[in-house]
Amino acid sequence: MKVKEFKTESKKLMDLMINSIYTNKEVFLREIISNASDALDKLHYESLTNSEIKIDTSSFNIRIDVDKDKRTLTISDNGIGMSKEELENNLGTIAKSGSLDFKENNKKKKDIDIIGQFGVGFYSAFMVSSKVKVVSKKYGSDEAYSWMSEGVKGYSIEKDERENYGTDVILTIKEDTDDEKYSKFLEDYEIQGLIKKYSNYITYPIKMEVTHQHLKEKVNPDDKDEYETVTHDEVINDLIPIWKRNQKDIKDEEYDTFYSDKFFDYEKPIRHIHTKAEGTLEFRSLIYIPSHMPYDYYTKEYEKGLQLYSNGVLIMEKCPDLVPDYLSFIKGVVDSSDLPLNISRETIQQNRILATISKNIETKVLKELEDMQKNAREDYIKFYNAFGMQLKYGVYNDYGMNKDKLKDLLMFHSSKDKQFVTLKEYTERMEKEQKNIYYACGETVDKVDLIPQVEAVKNKGYEVLYCTDYVDEFAIKMLNKYADKEFKNVCTDSLELDSEEEIEKLKKKNEKSKDMFNIMKEAIPEIKDIRFTNKLSNHPVCLSSAGEISVEMEKALNSMPIDNKISAEKVLEINEKHKIAKKLNELYKEDKKTLKKYAKVLYAQARLIEGLSIENPTEISNLMTEIMSK
Ligand code: ADP
Repeated sequence: MKVKEFKTESKKLMDLMINSIYTNKEVFLREIISNASDALDKLHYESLTNSEIKIDTSSFNIRIDVDKDKRTLTISDNGIGMSKEELENNLGTIAKSGSLDFKENNKKKKDIDIIGQFGVGFYSAFMVSSKVKVVSKKYGSDEAYSWMSEGVKGYSIEKDERENYGTDVILTIKEDTDDEKYSKFLEDYEIQGLIKKYSNYITYPIKMEVTHQHLKEKVNPDDKDEYETVTHDEVINDLIPIWKRNQKDIKDEEYDTFYSDKFFDYEKPIRHIHTKAEGTLEFRSLIYIPSHMPYDYYTKEYEKGLQLYSNGVLIMEKCPDLVPDYLSFIKGVVDSSDLPLNISRETIQQNRILATISKNIETKVLKELEDMQKNAREDYIKFYNAFGMQLKYGVYNDYGMNKDKLKDLLMFHSSKDKQFVTLKEYTERMEKEQKNIYYACGETVDKVDLIPQVEAVKNKGYEVLYCTDYVDEFAIKMLNKYADKEFKNVCTDSLELDSEEEIEKLKKKNEKSKDMFNIMKEAIPEIKDIRFTNKLSNHPVCLSSAGEISVEMEKALNSMPIDNKISAEKVLEINEKHKIAKKLNELYKEDKKTLKKYAKVLYAQARLIEGLSIENPTEISNLMTEIMSK
């Protein structure tokens, strides 16, 4: 018998499985049963789309057999089976190598359900088995083969016998240790319990031979009680998929279990939406909103989509057309008997039925989110922290096509209490005379809070929205207005906080100082304008932007791989009440050379406050020391 080595990745994974860091070993059964169910799905699908295959689907089943003496647990199915090559390819390697890196990095984090997150399925058998044998005959073939492995050492493939098509997975259960009583996986009631717990929704019957003790019928009423042992096959699972059941009969726990089984996420979802549509178009859907971001959400591996069934038969694992991009985080299943089975990728895109279902799901999810925001703010904040970014992208993308649907779901931190506030809440508690919705951008809430211009607006008694995601301002610009109020970045040069009189006074002062500013500008030509401001109370300077592009947007845009760097039109504003204003006036009269040096330093300070870097730090450092040494 030739023993082949596993591919390195598989070997590592197998090693981790055998010396499992993972305490919840019992899930192995779920994984094997789920593979059996997939194999039946595949054959079912073939039979429906290929008229040459004629199978009585009522014979489809999964069998569990226990042999306590041999310590074997066998899971059999009459599904599609595997050819020799498929045994080799499917069981000798793992496709998802990414999972391994993650697993190794997280060895210590016990509570992260790696198996669940990555579905390394089949290999989990090695958590409880000293030997795994898979005997399989591919549908339509006359030859059966078996695959066998005792762990990391390797595996072998041999010609074997099997009467019919299908697969047997034969696990030789490990001997008990002090820590782990593996023998329990050979007990009927334990296995039944696991099937109920993890695989109840499987749509094929999971059969098991069950032994009962029966009271023997008495010939004479006075006879002693006598028992007899009766064995018979029993279907353990409930069969009907959860989404086809009546909502009122389903416990929350069942919804959660189904979610974790199906979507490999062991943190409970934050909401589920179970609906049944009847009428011209009949379909059922069970949609989940996860409570946290999947580890691969922002990688190209992540695919949005819902599982698509045609009357109970899986026809697509992830149908992207059912989900708009900004809801790419939702998981779930859709089942419609109105869908053709042999739907292909192209026809799916044009399918009117799918478009209708998709619309329906979108509406339901948005309504659920709205409801959560209103009635369960804590949950909503948890959700928003995980996926709020998607909603903001949703506002901004597609030229703002979806902004009206999404604007009320947005939240921003507020200067009032640093808590999240919706735009509706903000505008409803705005001061009467307040013209605009003010917002400020920065890396963190605390950093934004320190921006000089924020102070100015706060001093007016107005609330400021704190934007800490770079997409925030793009979304806000796309919205343009909310409840007829315009959005204003506190760092723009026209804040509209002042009265006519104040504006006039400041204008005069600036006009008087025009010549001085022109001299200063010679030292800092990249700046569009310099002026005095009355909005700062303690800070000497701040940087504002004049055009459509704010300094924050400049930062965000330039962090992307684009050729032409973008620059905000910057305005250096100097606090007219600050001592520095007087000093500048003096220098203007007495020492124009030093005035220019001051201009450079002040501009550098303003840039630093804004979180921008200084182009020539050495020059600034030298200038500062020179000024300090005077
Ligand atoms: P996954 O199920 O996530 O693809 P697994 O490691 O559990 O990963 O299984 C690997 C592959 O082996 C499956 O994708 C399938 O092609 C094949 N396989 C496993 N069990 C069976 C089975 N009972 N019948 C047919 N094919 C199977």
